[in-house]
Amino acid sequence: TNALEIKGLRKTYRGGFEALKGVDLVVQEGDFYALLGPNGAGKSTTIGIISSLVNKTAGDVKVFGFDLDTQINEVKQHIGLVPQEFNFNQFETVLQIVVNQAGYYGVPRDLAKQRAEKYLNQLGLWEKRNDRARTLSGGMKRRLMIARALLHEPKLLILDEPTAGVDIELRRSMWDFLTRINKQGVTIILTTHYLEEAEVLCRNIGIIDKGLIIENTTMKRLLSQL
Ligand code: ADP
Ligand code: ADP
Repeated sequence: TNALEIKGLRKTYRGGFEALKGVDLVVQEGDFYALLGPNGAGKSTTIGIISSLVNKTAGDVKVFGFDLDTQINEVKQHIGLVPQEFNFNQFETVLQIVVNQAGYYGVPRDLAKQRAEKYLNQLGLWEKRNDRARTLSGGMKRRLMIARALLHEPKLLILDEPTAGVDIELRRSMWDFLTRINKQGVTIILTTHYLEEAEVLCRNIGIIDKGLIIENTTMKRLLSQL
């Protein structure tokens, strides 16, 4: 099975703006896939639909064979989302934010604590576990959202511009972490408007512009054409 299959995906926002005009996309299990495109191309809209934060206008979406229209709970269980905006409660502690995620996915409390410790450690945030989220730097907040997204151990991790506003040192360590997670078998899809990020991380790439996929290729092939 494929991790993701999208067919004829369309999104028209209220007011009539067509953000997606028939997107087709296949991401194989185990892949590290980049959705690359300029601002306004439709990347966040695509991700929003897959994670059921945005309603689609038309088209089919399947996640590990589960249909977004009829098997929404299975779809949600398989996806971990790292959105672009910081959408956690800034007054909660790092540990609370990660462990509280367990409730949405039926992860038992003890297991949630174990996993929180594991991921916060791997992401260099364990020492900050009792700090309120609002005291963290931007890069730490981004990593906090990654730890939160992994708590239910999804098979597909989706990140929307994961290193936006993160400095180069930290960006490298986030890249290392994501590569490690991918090698452990988690399929990763990230959006970026930044080719170097896709180049370092990704095996396959889709280029989106004005709501359409204009190229779908391997990173190798793309680079040999530049
Ligand atoms: P990207 O993530 O590639 O920058 P988006 O998916 O965020 O692109 O946006 C695609 C287009 O849809 C943009 O032109 C954007 O202004 C528009 N758009 C996004 N969200 C909304 C909305 N809620 N209502 C109307 N238009 C929107
Ligand atoms: P509150 O806003 O009171 O902290 P919410 O119910 O909005 O609580 O959710 C807590 C956090 O978990 C929010 O940041 C929310 O975006 C996130 N969240 C909720 N449901 C999901 C989900 N299915 N996948 C990923 N994150 C989620």
